[in-house]
Amino acid sequence: MSQSVEVCIIGAGVSGLKAAQHLIKNSKYSAEDIVILEAQDRIGGRLYTDRTSSKLGYSYDLGASWFHDCLTNVLFQHFYSGEDNDVFDISKDGYFDDKPECMFEKDLTGPVSEAKTKVGTIIHDIEKFIELYFLEHLSLEEDKSVKEMVDLYLLKYSKLLTEEEIKYAKVAMRYVELWHGVSWDKLSARYSILQHQGRNLFNAKGYDVIIDWLLKDIPRERILLESPVSKINRHVSNSDKRISVETKNGTVIHCNYLVVSVPLSILSLESSSDYGITWEPPLPETMTAALQKIHFGGLGKVVFEFDSIWWDMNQDRFSMIPKLTQSNEIFEELTSLPEPWSYPATAINYSAVRSKQDGTAAKGGSLVILTQSPLSNYLEKHPHEAWTYFKPMLSKIAVKEMPNEPITTITTEWSSNPYIRGAYGTIFTGDDPVNASIQLSGQVPGAGISSSTIRFAGEHTATEGEGCVNGAWMSGEREANWIMEHAGKSLKPLL
Ligand SMILES: Cc1cc2nc3c(=O)[nH]c(=O)nc-3n(C[C@H](O)[C@H](O)[C@H](O)COP(=O)(O)OP(=O)(O)OC[C@H]3O[C@@H](n4cnc5c(N)ncnc54)[C@H](O)[C@@H]3O)c2cc1C
Repeated sequence: MSQSVEVCIIGAGVSGLKAAQHLIKNSKYSAEDIVILEAQDRIGGRLYTDRTSSKLGYSYDLGASWFHDCLTNVLFQHFYSGEDNDVFDISKDGYFDDKPECMFEKDLTGPVSEAKTKVGTIIHDIEKFIELYFLEHLSLEEDKSVKEMVDLYLLKYSKLLTEEEIKYAKVAMRYVELWHGVSWDKLSARYSILQHQGRNLFNAKGYDVIIDWLLKDIPRERILLESPVSKINRHVSNSDKRISVETKNGTVIHCNYLVVSVPLSILSLESSSDYGITWEPPLPETMTAALQKIHFGGLGKVVFEFDSIWWDMNQDRFSMIPKLTQSNEIFEELTSLPEPWSYPATAINYSAVRSKQDGTAAKGGSLVILTQSPLSNYLEKHPHEAWTYFKPMLSKIAVKEMPNEPITTITTEWSSNPYIRGAYGTIFTGDDPVNASIQLSGQVPGAGISSSTIRFAGEHTATEGEGCVNGAWMSGEREANWIMEHAGKSLKPLL
């Protein structure tokens, strides 16, 4: 099959859909001028609300769950303004699950006491130490991992700390692993400390409502599912349609504008890989070099449902501080189940943050646990081992008798999904995320693709809300606006 359109969009995640919806609603193009090619058999990409696996009548967002950074989050602000309340009503459908941290560790019965251990104070001190260090050490070569920076802090300041404080200082910073989805020995300390722009609102209604909202303006027949793109040809001659896009199943789309919204993990693949994209002619070297200097994290989720609630319902979440590691331990791919407490974990008290869909009281309850790579990758491959790993850790939060087994276990599959391959962009030690975002967002005049008719969208191209739904959303809108502004001008697809 071959089709000729004005705009082709690769990827039906939130960024690709937003680009299409914005064009349809605001430009001279109609839905017939646009086609979206999606590799998978479903729409939404990393927004995925599972409404069928629960035995308790709950739904679970296996991708994004929160509106992060509410003070600057465009989606949050839109709904907060009162618009489209039928889609998402902040006061009814959202919940700020940010009661003070309730932390647990292997050798302690009951929660860790802040008053006794000052663990929160020490985390803040290490974060400030990291921030100040990188104000003086500006070059990429001087970057260090979070683990190295904690060692440096202790080398310098352990004389000021009590034995108990040193114990927590050695491991508590590993909480950042659950934000970035990767272990602290790989994570760039320079970029690991998040400057939150406001609180984080839990989306208790399910993120699929945002996808359905976008789909109101995009006729389904404009989205071709199970159409993985394998080749992008740029014709630099003055032919009518200057770009052609080929899928694995033989569809060819000719277009004037192309928005590539596939995840970074796909963009960085060699074209020889089964799921890589061949660029003809190849992508500029500046871009391929930039893609080597940014990585993909592996945040995952494990859901356990129980026929009774045996934890403290007054808490929003339970944080597990990992056991002390050997100073030279490296966290590579796991070939067997690690010992419990090897990695930090956060268990969300889902029963408290999410009311039951049909409004009746649930008979049981559930916990949603966040994990990071390499543990996520292992548990996603071996979901039946998840309970063995977490049972001893969760026993610490029990305030009533804990059941022997959960009634349901659900794990995410992001790392083994060949069209996602992880969770979102993250920054390894020595990476250069600024260059990658300049190359991909085309926002800086004269740099990379600033005047090319091939555009890039997605969380990894965001200059605000990086890694997040709101960043992906804004990147789709950015590229739709660019096309509207440049439509009809004589421009080339990448130089
Ligand atoms: C476990 C997890 C938890 C998260 N939690 C949060 C959170 O709480 N809050 C938040 O804001 N963000 C969160 N995120 C991040 C958020 O989900 C993403 O930033 C956002 O959904 C990405 O949207 P996107 O459009 O950039 O990419 P995607 O949604 O990945 O869309 C890209 C699409 O491209 C398709 N594709 C890939 N290759 C091809 C190909 N060759 N041809 C055609 N199509 C292709 C993919 O199938 C996919 O549908 C989380 C992500 C994960 C995985």
